[in-house]
Amino acid sequence: MANQSAIKHHLLFHLSLNTVVVGLVTGASYYHLPLSGIKDTLTYFIHLIILQSSVAGILYFLSFKLWIFRLVFSPLFFLFSAFAFWAYTQDISVTPHLIQAAFESKPDIAIDVISGPFMAYLGISITVIYLLNRWRKAIGDSPQPLLFGLLALVCLSLYPLTETYRPGSLQNRLPYNVVYSIREYQKRPSLTLNQVMPDLEYHKDSLVMILVLGESVRADHLGINGYHRNTTPSLNTIPDIISFKELYTEHTYTAASLPQILTDQGQVIKDTTYTSVYSILNRANFQTHWLGNQTLERGYAPVVATNDSVILIDAFKNVFSFNKRKDEDLLPPLKAILPNSARNVISLHMIGSHWWYEDRYQDKHRRFTPVIDSKYIPSLSPDQLINSYDNTIVYMDEFLSQIIDALTQLKIPSVLVYISDHGEQLGEGGKWLHAQAGEAAKNPAYLMWFSKKYQKRYPKKVEALTSQIHDTSTTDRVFYDLLNLLGIE
Ligand SMILES: [Zn+2]
Repeated sequence: MANQSAIKHHLLFHLSLNTVVVGLVTGASYYHLPLSGIKDTLTYFIHLIILQSSVAGILYFLSFKLWIFRLVFSPLFFLFSAFAFWAYTQDISVTPHLIQAAFESKPDIAIDVISGPFMAYLGISITVIYLLNRWRKAIGDSPQPLLFGLLALVCLSLYPLTETYRPGSLQNRLPYNVVYSIREYQKRPSLTLNQVMPDLEYHKDSLVMILVLGESVRADHLGINGYHRNTTPSLNTIPDIISFKELYTEHTYTAASLPQILTDQGQVIKDTTYTSVYSILNRANFQTHWLGNQTLERGYAPVVATNDSVILIDAFKNVFSFNKRKDEDLLPPLKAILPNSARNVISLHMIGSHWWYEDRYQDKHRRFTPVIDSKYIPSLSPDQLINSYDNTIVYMDEFLSQIIDALTQLKIPSVLVYISDHGEQLGEGGKWLHAQAGEAAKNPAYLMWFSKKYQKRYPKKVEALTSQIHDTSTTDRVFYDLLNLLGIE
């Protein structure tokens, strides 16, 4: 009888422990999901149950002995609840970049994050830790350590099982994303870059290039490329734009495609050292600036770092956030840099057409309806998905035309290059988005625009590139196109 009541107490303790952890930590990863309807809610409820079950396994071992609970569980819970506060209130994503900011921020900046609500949340967390510690002490050690230990192991195994079946689905949520991000942060960059540049032959004229790095925009959904919908109403009216419709890449996600586009790395990755295009541009006396609306990933962060300046406008929200800034917020910092130097290369890294599409444009760009109303893809119709996707292209159309507008007002020659990092699956072969590679994800949009002054100064370059627009090529050419456009031999 005594044993049975001890088991009951232990079960009650663990049930409460898990409920508290859902409330103050893991629940934060689900709070901002745009759910519509019972099916969505149910799907993510099951998702949370699977995640929390795996966490329950860990919690069992963390409370196995009182001293472990005190020395390991308590500080960990405090740390994780601090991250959860930001996930609840700001929809932040815990990424290696956030970890870097948290570890490396100067004290004056760190003080800015301390607010009344944050302190109150941490106060609740400390109170909960205190109460849980008292309760853990009162119930004593597990009455059935072997049985419960085995059960905990089964629960724990849900993590590797789920991650094998759907990589990233648990790893990108609390508490796992904290562990994952710290581990990634500690790793050395995956890309080795040449540090020493040889002497170069180059024109020394004044010249500005805007290099727009798009996201998930496939060539065949651009009106300017002959798509049956007019998704590019502004670009259609701008002369002097050329489009390379037959450009292909093998790399269908950002972390792999960007380093390939921005260095001399080819389609086939060889284990060697590459040269960043920005290192060459700096050597040719260009000021290089990176303005990003995506958090940096290890795959390309070293390349970005070779710019003279790096500004991330929304550094703590990655693609898992549903309240990210729009790309138009890149325009004010761009316009601040534009007049400052005679030789400038400014890269704009867009969030572009990345899922979740409805967050990527304003109401006025909603040309095609009905649009997606759920994050759960199986509950959406192909029409909804394609409509929303096409609306993101309408947004991009206006974004690019605004940049071209700003460039035409400059007194010096300028050129705009737009390259999407990869395409997107829109139902081909039953696949959506771009993580799972299919042919539709391998044909990114690639555009160039030349100012009148540029055309006048470099007529042969413009003519040569224009003659190549129907050629089939790979994104390997972009690196060399950029150098060529900027007059570097
Ligand atoms: Zn991408």
